[in-house]
Amino acid sequence: MDWLDALPETRVLRDPAQTRDYTHDESHVRGPEPLAVVKPRCREALRTLVHRAGDEGFTLVPRGAGSGKAGGCVPTPGSVVVDLADWPGPIAVNAANLTLSAPASAGLAAVKERAEVAGLWYPPDPNSWRLCSFGGSLATNAGGPNACKYGMTRRWVLAVEALMADGEVHRFGIDSVKQNTGPNLSQLLVGSEGMFGMILGATVALLPRPRETLTLLLPLPDMAALPGLPAQLFAAGLLPSALEFWDAAVLADLRAHGPDEARRLPGEALALLEFDDPGCTHAGFIEPLLEALGTLAAQAELATTGAQREALWGVRRMTSVHLKQRFPGKVSEDVVVPRDRLPEFFTRLAALDARTVSYGHLGDGNLHINLLHAGELDAESLEAALDPLFMLCVELGGTLSGEHGIGLAKREAFLRHADPFAIAALRGIKQALDPKGVFNAGKVV
Ligand SMILES: Cc1cc2nc3c(=O)[nH]c(=O)nc-3n(C[C@H](O)[C@H](O)[C@H](O)COP(=O)(O)OP(=O)(O)OC[C@H]3O[C@@H](n4cnc5c(N)ncnc54)[C@H](O)[C@@H]3O)c2cc1C
Repeated sequence: MDWLDALPETRVLRDPAQTRDYTHDESHVRGPEPLAVVKPRCREALRTLVHRAGDEGFTLVPRGAGSGKAGGCVPTPGSVVVDLADWPGPIAVNAANLTLSAPASAGLAAVKERAEVAGLWYPPDPNSWRLCSFGGSLATNAGGPNACKYGMTRRWVLAVEALMADGEVHRFGIDSVKQNTGPNLSQLLVGSEGMFGMILGATVALLPRPRETLTLLLPLPDMAALPGLPAQLFAAGLLPSALEFWDAAVLADLRAHGPDEARRLPGEALALLEFDDPGCTHAGFIEPLLEALGTLAAQAELATTGAQREALWGVRRMTSVHLKQRFPGKVSEDVVVPRDRLPEFFTRLAALDARTVSYGHLGDGNLHINLLHAGELDAESLEAALDPLFMLCVELGGTLSGEHGIGLAKREAFLRHADPFAIAALRGIKQALDPKGVFNAGKVV
């Protein structure tokens, strides 16, 4: 692959000391060393890469910040990783159009901050927003705590610029919230995990920034009080902008081994609620909210300062990292259960005796169920350990992943549990858009 050195405006990494970092993401999946890692900065380099990949039969693995939890950017044998970190382009807000455009390489943090500087707001808030790239967040259709009110990344995407299998860059969609010219190819690329093309940039919709935020820490006397919370709030006409939770085991570990802010967390289990409705910091909102919480309200703690709120979210955001440091062999799932089935799910999960611990996004039924030592199992035993969990979710009308995606980590389970028609359709689309398997071959389906 000496020709790689002739690619214009492209850094090429071949030294194993550098490429080793690319053999994993933040999941338990480990891949082989890639043939090379390339960091292109111009279209000509991309064009050459696509044509050479098609002609010579290797695949290009798109990579953002490598914070994914499904092994989607992990190399497969004989692949070349395309790290988009150097891809150029400005982050630009169009306040008159309530839109923002940015290159895939931008950090999601920089995108959110740029919107804020303009007095606007880009809602998607994966807990990795300080780590992940804009392109990666689009390719995985990232969700986060506020997805229960504001939906996932795809809801905000208006147009996508992408490198496709013809080697050219195409723009799908327009910078407008209304567009209806048949099936939407920009939406097909969002959440496609790099299997249809490589996202180089996008335009997303913005909102005016919410003016008020009410943050509430709700200690619970036991786990039994937790799963009914979303329905309890909805019945009172309340839709939180976030409703997160920690179960008793995660909470105990955070208290014993976490950072200072975690040591004082109260309760047997714990919920973190946030509202951003106009007037939510006033008694006229808070009183009916406490009434809706019934006996649980007596223990509720309001975060009255920005610093308190930040400390609570700091603990929530570091929960995954904390558990990984404590249990390096942990396997973290992100299953979904419809909210009205959460009580039944937690009862039946306990009966599975799978020795799991959990935390996550209760408000949209997206639960991070962790098997703390499953990473030490071989692939077959891991599949067997996870399958009862997946079967339970599917039986309750849920699914295998709410936000992390399928990648390599959940591919086998996805192929087992998805409708065969849907798998055949996805493979058909892959064949139509990328017949030579240039982009992320072997992932998802
Ligand atoms: C502590 C922690 C918390 C997290 N919390 C959340 C959360 O709340 N919600 C959530 O959704 N996720 C979460 N994640 C997972 C992860 O951060 C997100 O999925 C994120 O969007 C991935 O972005 P990335 O830039 O790191 O992508 P990568 O990991 O580099 O890639 C992810 C996938 O996207 C593909 N890809 C990347 N860039 C492109 C591109 N430009 N074009 C085409 N394909 C591309 C890759 O091939 C791969 O399949 C968390 C991860 C960590 C470590």
